[in-house]
Amino acid sequence: VRFTQDFIDKVRDANNIVEIIGQYTELKGAGARLMGRCPFPDHNDKSPSFSVTEDNQLYFCYGCKKGGNVFTFLETYNGMSFPESVEFLAKRAGLPLPEPEEGQARAPGSSNRDQKELLLKVNKAAGIFFHQNLKAQPTESVVKKYLIKRGLTDETVEKFRLGFAADDWQGLVRHFQSRKVPFDLAETVALIKQKRAGVKGDSHFDLFRNRLMFPIFSPTGDVVGFGGRTLGDDMAKYLNSPESPVFHKGRVLYGLHETGKFIRAQDEAIVVEGYMDAISLYAAGIKNVVAILGTAFTADHAKLLKRYTLNVKMLLDGDEAGITGAERSLPILLEGGLMAKGFVLPDKLDPDDFVKANGAEKLKAEVERAPELFTLLLMRRWMQGYKGSPSEKVRVVEEASIALRVMKNRQLMDLYLLEMARQLDVDISWVRRAVTQSVQTEQARLSKLLPKAESPQRGQVGPTEEESASIKMASSAEFNKVSVKGAPRDEAFILSLLLHNETLMRELQEAGPEEVLGILSHDGVRQLLVMALERYGQRPDSFDTLAASLASQLDQPNIITCSLELTRAMGDDAREEGQRKLMGDYLNAIRKRFLQNQAKALANQIRDQATPETLEQFMNIQRDRLSLTRD
Ligand SMILES: [Zn+2]
Repeated sequence: VRFTQDFIDKVRDANNIVEIIGQYTELKGAGARLMGRCPFPDHNDKSPSFSVTEDNQLYFCYGCKKGGNVFTFLETYNGMSFPESVEFLAKRAGLPLPEPEEGQARAPGSSNRDQKELLLKVNKAAGIFFHQNLKAQPTESVVKKYLIKRGLTDETVEKFRLGFAADDWQGLVRHFQSRKVPFDLAETVALIKQKRAGVKGDSHFDLFRNRLMFPIFSPTGDVVGFGGRTLGDDMAKYLNSPESPVFHKGRVLYGLHETGKFIRAQDEAIVVEGYMDAISLYAAGIKNVVAILGTAFTADHAKLLKRYTLNVKMLLDGDEAGITGAERSLPILLEGGLMAKGFVLPDKLDPDDFVKANGAEKLKAEVERAPELFTLLLMRRWMQGYKGSPSEKVRVVEEASIALRVMKNRQLMDLYLLEMARQLDVDISWVRRAVTQSVQTEQARLSKLLPKAESPQRGQVGPTEEESASIKMASSAEFNKVSVKGAPRDEAFILSLLLHNETLMRELQEAGPEEVLGILSHDGVRQLLVMALERYGQRPDSFDTLAASLASQLDQPNIITCSLELTRAMGDDAREEGQRKLMGDYLNAIRKRFLQNQAKALANQIRDQATPETLEQFMNIQRDRLSLTRD
């Protein structure tokens, strides 16, 4: 679905930027402009430099110079695409998404959208049911005793919306029946099951029974699946929702919807293996934690984490499986451009045991000291039992190469090579050669395995159908944005000034913008100015949100806020005049450049062949340039 500008404006109007950004950083202040610490992870803002203005629905950071509207905030902050940010905010405000028009190709996956929405509703209803069940349990119940034993407070139960599935074959079935939740949907997300599949009128039963329930949230807060830990002696200690249209284990990080802000604030994510690990770390005060759900770390996990931080620490159970998992995840982390560190818990303890035995402070200290995951694997895996023979050196390098050959960060790779050379007591040039050779051997092996024409690039696995669809959507959205890359400063400033000063905008419109549009050298800036004038002409009464409305239509939204810093120092009385003067100065600079370029072009023409016309034109331009300088 291509959203219309009207719909986009409606969504923006329905989501006050102050409320949205207020969830990520504390905003204080009087009047329309609020200040807070910059929430973007790449800006470690000590003093509040981040401003949000309710009147014009824009944000701007005086420190890192990011600026834009509520959509660009979510795009930059959460890594959403523009259509995703529109969808997310529309949903938040309860606005129905527009139906695709007749004849318009349906966006990939949109035919399933309604079903997905319904499945998420079923999950949500189940989550509430389990959560209320838990709260209703008496203190002496098995589940409450279990919580106490694991040190989980009411606060943690609330934060993670933990729940309880009773030892009852039809608790959820009856609940769904009374709420008229369609059983087929509940079956699709594997919450209930029919006793004899397909037998009409046959009864259903609950799949989660006698378990502590962990709802699994998407980063945007939808319940996509559940994990359940048995409270009895069920053989399956943990039971997870199977894959469903809304749940893909390899793409979800448990806890992220709650811990994302801490990961961002600390610019580091600690990755653990299970629900309880994540929750007990959180309860112990280590809040920048997420869990992978009984699966290997995937490229999708890496992509998801990258929205929050580049620094990842793997907290590994000290058993064989933990180390093997780390060895598999290292190339994925490195290929994703993440900085990977790792820490192995001693004595085959899991994080929860460790905290119980040694305290949270000790764990914090250990995590703080975590070495590079590469170094950890080198010492504990590849060099295990190493005695120093030449053939062992070759083997170690070969094993390490699997991770190294996908690395994008050359500087970091050099350090790893150096580390390996030091540990193996060989020259770094030998290590480098050996790694290169191992990569080539592997490539040769792969190219033999793969049909020639389709052989993918090394280390790249083709995107799934769904992925290519979403990539296509994202890039087409990018494509429709006006590019303001490389805009000259002065042209960017006059655009920004015009969007923040209605008097200047009105004057330009009344005087006729042709001259200004004619001298702008940057196509993107000119295009935006045309869009701004057009929209202002149509809706002169909504000048306040004009800039916010345009911010989503360009690839670098901070161009819209770039003048704010210049005019910050001006007092309110001086602002109007100060801005008018700035505008005049910039326009003159642009005029000069324009005439200079024209003169240059004409001079070239005259050099080739002078005509009376070109000579006269040239004289006129020179006269104009002179008069500009005199002004
Ligand atoms: Zn900033």
